[in-house]
Order: sequence, then C-alpha cells, then structure tokens
Amino acid sequence: MGRFVYADNAATTRISDSVFQAMVPFLTEKYGNASSLYGLGRDSRRAIEAAREKTAKALGAEPREIYFTSCGSESDNWAIKSTALAMAQKGKKHIITTVFEHHAVLHTCQALERQGFEVTYLPVEPNGVVDIEKVKEAVRPDTALVTIMYANNEIGTIQPIPEIGALCQEKGVLFHTDAVQAVGAVPIDVKAQNIDLLSLSAHKFHGPKGIGALYIRKGLVIPNLVDGGGQERGRRAGTENNAYIVGLGTAIETACASIEEKNTRVSAMRDKLIAQLLQIPHTRLNGDPIKRLPGNVNISFEGVEGESLLLMLDSRGICGSSGSACTSGSLDPSHVLLALGLKHETAHGSLRLSLSGENTMEDVDYILEQLPPIVQRLRDMSPVWEKMMKEEQN
Ligand SMILES: *Cc1c(COP(=O)(O)O)cnc(C)c1O
Repeated sequence: MGRFVYADNAATTRISDSVFQAMVPFLTEKYGNASSLYGLGRDSRRAIEAAREKTAKALGAEPREIYFTSCGSESDNWAIKSTALAMAQKGKKHIITTVFEHHAVLHTCQALERQGFEVTYLPVEPNGVVDIEKVKEAVRPDTALVTIMYANNEIGTIQPIPEIGALCQEKGVLFHTDAVQAVGAVPIDVKAQNIDLLSLSAHKFHGPKGIGALYIRKGLVIPNLVDGGGQERGRRAGTENNAYIVGLGTAIETACASIEEKNTRVSAMRDKLIAQLLQIPHTRLNGDPIKRLPGNVNISFEGVEGESLLLMLDSRGICGSSGSACTSGSLDPSHVLLALGLKHETAHGSLRLSLSGENTMEDVDYILEQLPPIVQRLRDMSPVWEKMMKEEQN
C-alpha cells in the first residue's frame, strides 16, 4: 500500500473526528427546531447559541455580531452586495478591492459593476501583498466599501489588515475582509483590526462544508440576505442548520485554541518543503516567504505543465493543486499568479501544496521523495523545457 498525503487543505479540509462527533446528535436524536419552545427545540437553540459564542470569541467579536450562512461565498455576496445597496442610498457607489481576490468577491464586484457601481481593482506587489499606499490613494469621497482578503487562497500571502482597517476607519469607509483562508490559521481580532464585516467558512478549518458565517459589526445596518422568519435576528431567515452550526463552532474553537503550537509545527513543515523544492533548478516561490499562511507552499517549476504534475502526484497518493485550469476548459492560468507578473508558461507550471495541523513531517518527507523525480521526468518529456535549455546554452 502506498502512502496517502492530503496537501490540498486550502481547497477543503477533512472534518475532524471531534467535530463529527459533536455534530452527530443533531443529525439524529436532537432534531428539534430551534424556534420551538419544548425541550427538544431548546436543546437546538442552546447548541446554536453556544456555537455563536465560540465563533465570536475566536474573532474578538460579540455573539450578536455573528450570522450563520451557508458558506464563505454566501457571506462574501451578502457583505458586499448589501453594503453596496445601503451605501448607494447615500450616494456612495465606489468599491475598492484587489485583482487577486477569490471569485466569490471578484464576480460579486463585477455583478455590481453591471448595476452601475464603480469598482477599483488594486494591483498587488510582486510578493503578493497589497501596498497600503495604493489603498490610500484609491479612496474617494464616494467610496462605500473596501473589500480586501485577509490571506490569499493560492499563494497564502497575508495582507496588512490592521493598517487597512485603520485607514478605512480614518476615512469613514466600511471594510470587509474575506478571511476564509485566515480563520483558524492566524489570530484575528475584528475590534483591534477595525474590521466591519468578515467572512468565514467552516470547511477550511476541519469543519463541514456548506456552513459559514458573516461577522457584521453591531450598529451597521445593511439589507437582509433572506427575508422570512426571525432566524439570525431576522437578517438571514430559514430554519437553522443546527448540526452544521455546531460543527462550525467546535471546529473554530479547536482551530483557534491551539493556534500558536499548531503554527510552529505547520510552518516548520512548510519551510522544509519550500527550502528543499527551491533546490530544484528553475523554480520560484510564489508569494512572500514571511507574510504567508503557515501551511501554504506555492512553487512554479519552469518547463512543467501543472495538470500533468497533479496527475502524477495523484498516482503516488499525493493531493495538491495547480495554478493551471486546463481541465475546466480554460487555458487561462490563475488570475492570482498572473497578478504577480508571472508569464503564462510559468503560471501553468505551478503547484500549491497546502498543509494543515493534521499533516506530519513524514508527509513532507514523502512529498520530497516523490516530487523531484516527477518534475525531472516531466521536463525530460517537455519540448518547452528542451527549448529553454537550448537557449540557455547559446
Ligand atoms: C474557499 C474560499 C471561499 C469560498 O468558501 P465556500 O465556503 O467554499 O463558499 C471564499 N474565499 C476564499 C479566500 C476561499 O478560500
């Protein structure tokens, strides 16, 4: 039996055993509607409110500032579209974001552009970090919202969130951050960092898929996401998904409780992978080496096609991801890698390995044993590589 190494935790994570165990009763005997008055309903209500408290605590927020949603994408849509709508009534129809956001943010901004909003897409620096000066220059009197991700999902770069928060507060502009990659991976304090709205998703920190949350600073009035019953303070109606909310609460509490110990361990694995993979000639690390999520490795291998690399890794039991999207029918490489200024060929030959607290140094050693010969083999078969090597000799 070959080894199995899951190194695609930025795409999704395994539901941890403790999270699953916490969810089970609410999928079986504790099925009461949280709005019902009898004991079975009250059990659900109590569990939901406990999960809300855990979520609030993890962010430095108050429980009443936490709204459960069905995913990170939903939270992003709600935060951006509703803020835009509310601020448009005050004549503010300008939004600032960046070119390398997740599509849940980018496509939302594009949808708003079609409805008459104006969006500034800030560039990112070659290291994958946004320059605070450029944010400052982009703010206008009619700016409604700044939405900048906490940490990038492909290259793991961590943005200057406290600085952006302070700037927005000074300018009287609302600040939303897509923190889907950051929650459970880096310490967050929405009050100290002046964040008005923050999106998160449970399946990125060992919780279940299909459950997320939006933090909305108290006092901030934006249109409801779903009108209906009184759930989520009437702002996102629909009978609560109690089992999944409990899963989110347990997952966020666990992820944040051990954040420092976990990060020391995970970043040591990351740094070993990066150091060793950069020993392979004609490779580059994408994204800042320091301002980086503890589990993110993103390397470009010249002369290698990302899809082939993934398939060969899969045949050795290793799950990763690449900046190339050929299988989705598009030849365009990742918008994130292009935003760093990478050439198309280089972006196509990139590999993201994303680690979590469940990975071990043995996983890293296995990857380091399998990956370099695969890169060599693909290069040996590659006409692009052959051409590169010839040009180098001349
Ligand atoms: C995964 C992810 C999302 C989407 O979250 P879902 O829960 O899958 O909708 C949004 N933003 C970022 C940065 C992500 O990594």
